[in-house]
Amino acid sequence: MTHMTDIKIAQAKKLLHIKNIAKKLNVDEDDLEMYGKFKAKLPLFLIDEEKVKKNNLVLVTALTPTPAGEGKTTVSIGLTEALNKIGKQATVVLREPSLGPVFGMKGGAAGGGYSQVVPMEDINLHFTGDFNAVEKANNFLAALIDNNIQSKTNNLNIDPRTILWKRVIDMNDRALREITIGLGGTSNGVPRQDGFNITPASEVMAILCMASDLDNLKERLGNIFIGFTFDNTPVFARDLKAENAMAILLKDAIKPNLVQTLEENPAIIHGGPFANIAQGTNTIIATKMGLTLSNYVVTEAGFGADLGAEKFLNIKSQFANLNPKCVVLVSTIRALRHHGGAKTEEYNTPDLVKVTVGFNNLEKHIENIRKFNIEPVVAINSFVSDSDEEVAFVIEKCASLGVEAVLSEGWAKGGNGTTDLAKAVVNVVENKATQYKPLYNWKSPVTDKIETIAKEIYGAKNVEYSKLAQLNLRRINRLGFNDFAICMAKTQKSFSDDETLIGRPEGFTINVREIEIAAGAEFLIPILGKMMRMPGLPEHPASENMTIDTNGVISGLS
Ligand code: ADP
Ligand code: MG
Repeated sequence: MTHMTDIKIAQAKKLLHIKNIAKKLNVDEDDLEMYGKFKAKLPLFLIDEEKVKKNNLVLVTALTPTPAGEGKTTVSIGLTEALNKIGKQATVVLREPSLGPVFGMKGGAAGGGYSQVVPMEDINLHFTGDFNAVEKANNFLAALIDNNIQSKTNNLNIDPRTILWKRVIDMNDRALREITIGLGGTSNGVPRQDGFNITPASEVMAILCMASDLDNLKERLGNIFIGFTFDNTPVFARDLKAENAMAILLKDAIKPNLVQTLEENPAIIHGGPFANIAQGTNTIIATKMGLTLSNYVVTEAGFGADLGAEKFLNIKSQFANLNPKCVVLVSTIRALRHHGGAKTEEYNTPDLVKVTVGFNNLEKHIENIRKFNIEPVVAINSFVSDSDEEVAFVIEKCASLGVEAVLSEGWAKGGNGTTDLAKAVVNVVENKATQYKPLYNWKSPVTDKIETIAKEIYGAKNVEYSKLAQLNLRRINRLGFNDFAICMAKTQKSFSDDETLIGRPEGFTINVREIEIAAGAEFLIPILGKMMRMPGLPEHPASENMTIDTNGVISGLS
């Protein structure tokens, strides 16, 4: 069977007007801010904390993925379709895709096959402009910093060598990692070393995703730590009176976006931090909006459960008082083969022995989810190359651990392929859910928090800090930032910080290279191993396969 491409399936769908999707959520048409016929922003006043507490949150995460992704977004959307089919009112709440992966290697992030959110081109491209607004707010602060250094009369005495604030752009562009700015004489600024991060790694994105409302957003923006003066006094964005202008630039970006799934169910898509270098989940506002408007919210945290889910549970849920009642661990036979030693060209070849060996990766993730007092359900995202024996092995092995594993066929069949998964999830939500517990308290010492994640979640033997990281720890202490959450920056390819260690590595050391401060987001970001906050394009970017015709119809976007 040849399968239609994601974009062909999406383009074949005749969309409902967005006001009809809003109607399913009992949102009045007059309360929508329309962006054309198929996208709308939802006003924040709709959020109702009582309903947020009452309704059910389901988190979708995965085992340690191969570079292609194991289908969390696809499964999240499929699961939402099926929940609606079996009579639960459900909304999928997702992140906005970044142009870096869309044009780089991974492709879009609007699901796949018959489990997609639409209009997929818009969602994958500029959507409602939120990423643009984040970028502008971020870069306006950068402009204010350089303007302040240039100014004779309005000068905070900032030492240019200490500035930590970088510019951002939503693109994979390695040439911008290290740059020199301010060249060209006295009227062109003060020369200094600078660099770009990708927009999903920006602290403004992290702040947008943590903010509870516009006032809280403004306060957090003011709290951004920039660097030091020549007298070693810390400088914050509020010292530059930046927070109001930045919040003005974000006035629409703070509102969640409503779109639809292929089966005309509601989808809220808002905010887009990466999970390897940032917190990896949509905004708290969007999650609460979903939980206000529907009985079930299915949401996704990026990459493997050691990254997105760890941060979802220790950072987001703890801070926003959310109580995820079930975790869906997406697994593919392909990824299990990979963790059992299959090479890339062997990913699609059935191999029960490799799957048996590779299962140890999934098993560690199952154990980890239970540490949070949550019962996982394993969704085997079905691929045509899976053999019956491999699938049967995973189901039996999970059963021996007391976990229900269900074949998920949303990619091929939409909601019709995921009703078993939906029933398994409802069973956990209705019969097994209690109060989840985070793994660490934000108020614990910084090194304890880092060690808890490294040992409990990654399975590390110990943690080592570079000279620079030790200096960073002293600075964090001096500035009084010990109580912030830990937002690890680690490779998504391994439990360890060495991407070549597949499966379930043991006895390894976690190397903290440096620790960044995101004072507005209230995060400390330990950078592990070789992590970078600006990706590069691959030798053959996905963009090479994309076209747009005379009528504006796009193909090759996936
Ligand atoms: P994740 O959210 O885990 O990164 P996605 O849901 O974005 O993964 O899926 C990654 C890619 O794999 C997408 O291009 C999607 O179309 C494709 N995909 C997902 N599930 C399947 C499947 N069961 N069979 C074939 N391709 C799939
Ligand atoms: Mg995804």
